[in-house]
Amino acid sequence: MNSDCVTVNLEGDVAVISVNNPPVNTIDAAVRAGLSAAVAGIRARGGVAAVVLVCEGSTFFSGADIGEFAGPPKEADYRDLFRQLEQLPVPVVAGMHGVVMGGGLEVTLACHYRLAAPGTRFGLPEVTLGIIPGAGGTQRLPRLIGVEKTLDLILDARPVDVATALTLGIIDAEISGDVRKATVAFARALIHDRAGPRRTSERSVDPNTATGAIIDRLTQQAKSRYPNREAALTAIKAVSAAAKLPFEEGLLYETELVNGAKATAESKALVHVFFAERDTRKVPGLPADAKPRAIASGGVVGAGTMGGGIAICFANANLPVTILDTTQEALDRGLAFIGKTYDSMVKRGRMTTADKEQRMALIRGTLDYPDLANADVLIEAVFENLELKRKIFKTLDEVAKPGAVLATNTSTLDITHIAAATRRPQDVVGLHFFSPANVMPLLEVVRTDLTEPAVIRTALDLAKALRKTPVVARVCYGFIGNRMMEGYAREAERMVLEGAMPRQVDGALEEWGMAMGILAVFDMAGIDVGVNVHRANAERYPPDPAYYQADFALHAAGRLGQKNGKGYYKYLPGDRGRHDDPEAAEILRSTARQLNIPQRSHSAAEIVERCLYPLINEGIRILDEGVAARAGDVDVVWCAGYGFPRYRGGPLFYADTIGLKTVYDGISKYRDLFGPMHWQPAPLLTRLAAEGRTLAEWDKARN
Ligand code: NAD
Repeated sequence: MNSDCVTVNLEGDVAVISVNNPPVNTIDAAVRAGLSAAVAGIRARGGVAAVVLVCEGSTFFSGADIGEFAGPPKEADYRDLFRQLEQLPVPVVAGMHGVVMGGGLEVTLACHYRLAAPGTRFGLPEVTLGIIPGAGGTQRLPRLIGVEKTLDLILDARPVDVATALTLGIIDAEISGDVRKATVAFARALIHDRAGPRRTSERSVDPNTATGAIIDRLTQQAKSRYPNREAALTAIKAVSAAAKLPFEEGLLYETELVNGAKATAESKALVHVFFAERDTRKVPGLPADAKPRAIASGGVVGAGTMGGGIAICFANANLPVTILDTTQEALDRGLAFIGKTYDSMVKRGRMTTADKEQRMALIRGTLDYPDLANADVLIEAVFENLELKRKIFKTLDEVAKPGAVLATNTSTLDITHIAAATRRPQDVVGLHFFSPANVMPLLEVVRTDLTEPAVIRTALDLAKALRKTPVVARVCYGFIGNRMMEGYAREAERMVLEGAMPRQVDGALEEWGMAMGILAVFDMAGIDVGVNVHRANAERYPPDPAYYQADFALHAAGRLGQKNGKGYYKYLPGDRGRHDDPEAAEILRSTARQLNIPQRSHSAAEIVERCLYPLINEGIRILDEGVAARAGDVDVVWCAGYGFPRYRGGPLFYADTIGLKTVYDGISKYRDLFGPMHWQPAPLLTRLAAEGRTLAEWDKARN
């Protein structure tokens, strides 16, 4: 009854089923087959008084195999397996450790008793993948803890700790010492007490946990927490059915709902982003023998917003980092900002004061370049100015040790030019962090034609150490993210000059799913910051007199955004909200008059199309040019760095979802309305739309 990953050992009259499916004990087809054989073997052999289920390695079952989503439904397999397990005539005890998620937790609900080691975490994160628990979880868990608490757990989607699991009634006890021994000891005590099986499916749901008021509250919560999404509402349907349907009927209803959920665009998009994020580290064409260099310390040049955030990333990863600025004042300001960031984390209970001190001790300030000589990676984060950056790279070249990676955090400048200021352009790479650098998960790794493969691998390893999602891009203006931002921002600014209110533009984008409307983003980042980028890149901008003129006009009127309480919106002290501002509206109107821009009204659909189509169009160009290696990489950049809704899968996945023909026709419609300067369908879009193909198909055929 043993298989490659499932073994059964008899310890006296206790049968111990032990699973070992590294790295995280995913429940895949082999595990299911092994478990099924193990349960059948135990039943056939007789003489067993209790069964224990444990896993080897770092964790109990971490969850189901997400790779199986695309294949034929597996719910019947799970149903049968869990039924066999639950129907064993002797007590079945699960002993858990690690992170027990989704299907991993559902297995234990089919066991009769549940124990967990200290530090174990439990969760049902299915709605984050657009589905619902589909292995009996929606029917068994409410029989254990009620409908309301089950739905709280599912809708929250975040793991809970042992103490919470005990309070909720998900587990029976916390165990200490060796998990297997402790679970066997618990099973022996059950045998001694003649406890017998205790099947979850035979319990009934407490109707007080599923009143109309409770379901209404949860429905409201699901709608506001997961706007434009179905999965959370589907979970409410499935779980509340547990209070009405007999168990077996409930299971079939759950299967029907989960299979419906898997077929939604929401789930397909979320699963796409999940896998795309895993794939970004696979860089096509990178030689296998390109070995990453060791990174044990870092140096940062520029102690401003980004430099400070980057230094925090290093310290959080337990890597010592030296941060350099030109004056003591600038350095002190930077270090004070770092201290404040940690203070706020202590205040929010995210770390202890001792943690803060330990991390601050890893960050050293300096005014002298020789102090950077020992750093394995140096990241420049000074003002966005090519000549300044070239000067700094020349100095870094003089002081950095041989083999050090020299990186720039530039958002838009040509890294090839920066690298050319050194005698070692092969060691130069872009490491484009996003603001706030210690929070945002994205890291664009920008390679020039001369960047050595080993340096790219080192950057990917560094990203892992800093807990970032890296996406490799080739050099071009703005790389992947900011290059795509150009048309998106251009249209938003243009529409406010055509008479749309900032709130209307941002509102339409947010309702569609963007985390924050783009004009509110500008106010947050600083209108002056945007204007500096526009000025630095004026040469490459098209001959359009209205280009980014909303930014310029507000800036000229002294409106810098949140930092001085006025930008596209007005901000009031002590209030984080944004308010309409007639003064801003008047500035925009008078700018429009000077530029002869006709005033018109805008539907939400037009706002979304005019912002998103240029974004998608540029993403397609980026893909076609090989700036991004895969469509999924473009999607990850926008989901991880720009607040694009994951449930729409990223810009290129979304383009496939609505159809490339729709995007092509949309761009052509606006070209006919506004002229061809900004509205030319990308050649690859034109081709694929005509052929009726998707970007995913094109990408797959190419990679
Ligand atoms: P910032 O103005 O906050 O900080 C720049 C720092 O560099 C200042 O502390 C300044 O004193 C220091 N500095 C200037 N000249 C220097 C020199 N010669 N030697 C050492 N230090 C010097 O700017 P920031 O927002 O942190 O941006 C830094 C870089 O990061 C820019 O290239 C920017 O484009 C890029 N970036 C910014 C963001 C963002 O949202 N702020 C996001 C991604 C990338």
